Amino acid sequence: MNYNTPPRFLITADWIFPVTAPAIKGGGLVINGEKIEAVVDAEALAFLKESEPELAYRHYKNAAVLPGLINLHTHLDYSNLAHLSDFDGPGMFDWLESLVELSRSQLNGPEALVASALSGAREAALAGTSYIVDSTFSGASALALAQVGLKGLVGLELFGLDESCADFLFGLWESRLQALQITLQETLKKTEDEVLAATKIDSQHGDATAAGGIAITRTNERLNSLYSKTQPISVEFLKQPPQTTPKIRLTIAPHAPYTVSPALWAKAKNWAQERHLPLTCHLAESENEHNWIAGEDDRLHQYLLKVMPKNPQLNTDEAMAIFLKSLDWKGRGASPVEHLQNNSLLNKDTIAAHCLKASEKDIAILAEAGVKIALCPRSNRILKNGIPNSRAYEKSGVTFGLGTDSRASSPNLDLRDEARLLELSQERLLALLTIEAAKAVGLEDSIGSLAAGKCADLAVFDIGSLSTKETSTDVSEHLSAEAALADIFEQRNPCRLLLVDGRAVVSAGQLN
Ligand SMILES: [Zn+2]
Repeated sequence: MNYNTPPRFLITADWIFPVTAPAIKGGGLVINGEKIEAVVDAEALAFLKESEPELAYRHYKNAAVLPGLINLHTHLDYSNLAHLSDFDGPGMFDWLESLVELSRSQLNGPEALVASALSGAREAALAGTSYIVDSTFSGASALALAQVGLKGLVGLELFGLDESCADFLFGLWESRLQALQITLQETLKKTEDEVLAATKIDSQHGDATAAGGIAITRTNERLNSLYSKTQPISVEFLKQPPQTTPKIRLTIAPHAPYTVSPALWAKAKNWAQERHLPLTCHLAESENEHNWIAGEDDRLHQYLLKVMPKNPQLNTDEAMAIFLKSLDWKGRGASPVEHLQNNSLLNKDTIAAHCLKASEKDIAILAEAGVKIALCPRSNRILKNGIPNSRAYEKSGVTFGLGTDSRASSPNLDLRDEARLLELSQERLLALLTIEAAKAVGLEDSIGSLAAGKCADLAVFDIGSLSTKETSTDVSEHLSAEAALADIFEQRNPCRLLLVDGRAVVSAGQLN
């Protein structure tokens, strides 16, 4: 492993898309350690090169720089069950039964789970993703993110329909979390040690990528004068305290309203609230879920009979069936969104995946509660649930972004492919994959756009179609911002460089 980059260096490309500011033609970014020191336009860039001829410098020809993309919902653990995404059964719960069965038989130990999660994390990185919101029962995805060098919010899943067991089940979840916290810290430390070892070897051998790096010894005054010509520029970050958000945050993930009782969900909500953490869940994904919460649904009833763990009191199908029929917190005609709202379980720190079976009233409830939404249109289509109404969410003012869902219900983990299914402008789609998703995870001050003081999380993608590349090597100089963005979304060119906190996770299109 080798994330080697100079301590301070300049990246230039034909187009820079800061997202929260207009696109910059022929500009660049100064990366300083883990942060973006400055975003410069062409004029300031010329000035900078002249003032600091020794500054390490990388130009990406026929390329554009975007903020690292943010995937708001996936399950990296299932990445090695990709054949399930060819699903051709009648509905989502047939697919879920296969998923449960296959994950129990094929992902039946920590090694298999981590190997599967690693393959997903690598795929996501190669598609320009720097931040991932993941749901996991095993916790393997958190370890995979740490090993690959990505950032994320990992929700450890919580299940339990029996309200009388809520305390016991929550205690079990807390024990699992504690064990994961220890393993994650060990993995992060091991990864950091490997990086340091690789850096040492590289410097001994005169690594070309690091050779131009220079230590930063400048004063604020010097920086201020150097960047005084540039727009938009700030050196405010030098005065800010170091970022305290850990690279990988562990949180709680009550799975869905049809697998978690309101009493247990309330414990999850309180736990997350006390720690100022977002909570992740699935919500309003299928018609079956709606019918079961509102009253009854045979298919979902059968699914729960088959897969929910049986405790000693409910160890037969018959006992379990009676128990399911006796649940008194459902069956009152409410939609899943109304059900959570009626139990005071929705708040601004909730990140709900799917929400495609949401009525206008439901969407208004979500907006009022400040819930953040992760739309997953490809997974919804593959599992025959339909396609989410992104226009209704646009109108509602809800903060939403996109998730690929897992490889078991999605053809790949490339967010650009996810975005293409929504009928929104490419500029808006780019915002959904970056700054809007950053708002959803509560990190809009540090990720999701390219601006001075923010984390150096960025992705470089090729632009310029193949046919024009054959006739000129500098075609992208003539591309408009719109054409460059269209190329990024439509050409599916691989990511050439992915920086996460200034470290190169992908370079020259390859994982480091
Ligand atoms: Zn999911």
